[in-house]
This record gives sequence, C-alpha cells and structure tokens, in this order.
Amino acid sequence: MTGPTTELPLIPAAKPIIGDEERAAVDRVMRSGMVAQGPEVAAFESEFAQVLVGSRTCVAVNSGTSGLHLGLLAAGIGAGDEVIVPSFTFAATANAVALTGATPVFADISADTFNLDPASVAEAVTERTAAVMPVHLYGHPADMDGLGAVAAEHGLQLFEDAAQAHGASYGGAPVGSFGVFAMFSLYPTKNMTSGEGGMVACADEDIARGVRLLRNQGMEKQYANEVVGLNNRMTDIHAAIGRVQLGKVWGWTQQRQANAAWLDAALGDVVVTPPVREGCTHVYHQYTVRVEGASGAERDRVVSALREEHKVGCGVYYPTPNHELVSLARFAPERELTQTARAAAEVISLPVHPSLSEGDLERIAAAVHAVVGAGA
Ligand SMILES: *Cc1c(COP(=O)(O)O)cnc(C)c1O
Repeated sequence: MTGPTTELPLIPAAKPIIGDEERAAVDRVMRSGMVAQGPEVAAFESEFAQVLVGSRTCVAVNSGTSGLHLGLLAAGIGAGDEVIVPSFTFAATANAVALTGATPVFADISADTFNLDPASVAEAVTERTAAVMPVHLYGHPADMDGLGAVAAEHGLQLFEDAAQAHGASYGGAPVGSFGVFAMFSLYPTKNMTSGEGGMVACADEDIARGVRLLRNQGMEKQYANEVVGLNNRMTDIHAAIGRVQLGKVWGWTQQRQANAAWLDAALGDVVVTPPVREGCTHVYHQYTVRVEGASGAERDRVVSALREEHKVGCGVYYPTPNHELVSLARFAPERELTQTARAAAEVISLPVHPSLSEGDLERIAAAVHAVVGAGA
C-alpha cells in the first residue's frame, strides 16, 4: 500500500451487527402486543446468567449507567460514603457514584493494563471509604486478586463495571462473578447489544431484589411500593434483541481475539500493543495501543492522519481523565494520577470488531506503520 488513499472506503472504528434474526425477534414481540418488561426480559436475564456470568442472578435494566446506579443504591451506597474508581474510564462510572450522593474518589491505573492499580487504591482509602469499583477497561479484567486483597483488608465492598468486558475472565472465573454486583452495558458499540440496555449480575438475592425494586418504582407487588425507586425497566423489545445477540457473542469474541492476535503480530514494532496479564482473557472491546512517550497533541496528529489520509476509523478512549472534566473536577484528587495522564495522552483504539476483513487488517497495519513509523 502506498501513500494517502483518499478514495478508499472508511474502515469504521466500531460496527454493531444487527441481522435478520434480531429483526424477526423484534417483530415477534411487536406482534404479541406486549412490549414493556415481561417474559422476554425474564428469559434474557436467565440466559445471560448462564452464558456469561456463571449463573449469577441477573437483573436487566434500561442502560448500563442505570445498572451502576441501581447496583450502588441496592448495595447501600449514599451520602457520606466514598467509592474508589478509576479516572481513566467513561464518565458513567463516576457519574453513577455521584448520583447516589456518595463521593467518587479517583485512584490511578497500572502502567500496563489501563486498569485500577491496587497500590493506588490502598493509598486512597479513608475511614469513609465504603467500596471500590474497578472497570474492566477495553475488555481486559482488572486485577481482582490485588483489589480483592485491598477490599478485604479495609472491609470494603467490591463492585465491577464490566460494561466493556462480556466474556472476559480472570483466573478462570468470568468477570461479573467477583463483585457484590457487576454491570454489563448493552449499548450498540459494546461487544453485544440490546439497542440500549444494561445487565446487573448480583452476588446474592438481596442485591438482586434491591435492583429489581429500584428499577420498578420500588414495587414487587403492584401499588405496594416498598422503597423509593425509578423506572429503569428494560422493554421486551430490547430483551428480544439481546437474546439473539447472546447466541452470537462468543463467536464474535473469538473473531475479536483473532483480529487482535493478527494486529499484535503486525504492530508490535511500532506501537505498544495491548498487554494481556497472565491468567486473564481479554475480549477486546477496544484494541488500544500506546504511542509511547507521545503528548496528547502528537497522538491526536496520528489519529487525524489515520482517519483522514488512510481512512482508518479510530478512537481515543479517553482523552480527558474524569477528574479533569468540568462535571467531575470537584472530585479531583490532590495527588497526581501519573499513569492516568500518560494513558490519556498515548492511547489510540484501532478497529478490532468482528466485521473486519483480512484486507482491512492489512490496511490498518500499513497505515499505522506509515503514520507512526514516519514519526507524525
Ligand atoms: C458504556 C459504558 C458505561 C455505560 O453504559 P451505558 O449502557 O452506555 O449506559 C459505563 N461504564 C463504562 C466503562 C462504559 O464503557
């Protein structure tokens, strides 16, 4: 491949796969005349539990963010509590904590995997710390042994933001089976979708019942409201889409992993390819490389060149640490989050989705070599 190739079609950064089976499932629900939460949601919950989280009880909600919010509320998190979270993540993680009235406390990530560093978490613990909520960022599990040890030592609850990590595993156990609760997002760009939606995997029936009550105005029996709740229910239309996708997610994951292995081999000499820690299975929601030592501006020039000159759709997740966002700056920690700042400047997520052809992979590799190799 030579030079700028403006006439090439764009390789999209992400591509939700929605086919005839999903359309037929929606049609089936529409024809039934019952479209709100009902039997499809119940079936989706039990199938999701079996396929992805070792049969933990699952409760479906209308978004991943709702799942975090309700999980936190059901676990008793509220005003006066501190919950330790990464700053290098989507803002939904800290937003959910702040919306309960609790304080999100930002800790740093490890130098390699982009996930919470247990040592930094331990430093952030105070007498008000109630919980720690790691994110399995990009589909790579957080250090659950290290974080579990800090949680046990300080008597903290452990939650999981597994929004990006359907099917990932740590020490042979699926993510979502570690925390008091774990949330999976079903947004269209995630590894599987229900249109919009979230699934909460629960460690016990108390948490599950709490989330069920909170998603439905605090009611188990109609008009016998037990707690103050919301309407965060999933519809049967969305659940029907999710059930179809659940049958495909493992195949898609294998394709993501094969694409990642191909890119690892092709790109290791010009960028830092995504590390996989021993005992971990990475499901490559994102295939995120580092342009080592780059400033944010240098990295942004690489991204522009990949997109504009080579038509390789790519993303930066996330360019601004949460504690620097206008919305969350009041929670900025005093100490510096060195690895967070470094990752925010260096990362580029390249396409890894299951629809990539071998020609697409070759174009991606050639483009990265042309742009980074040339020292953009
Ligand atoms: C997508 C995402 C969420 C929020 O999920 P929604 O379904 O979009 O509400 C939360 N945390 C992380 C890390 C995410 O990637």
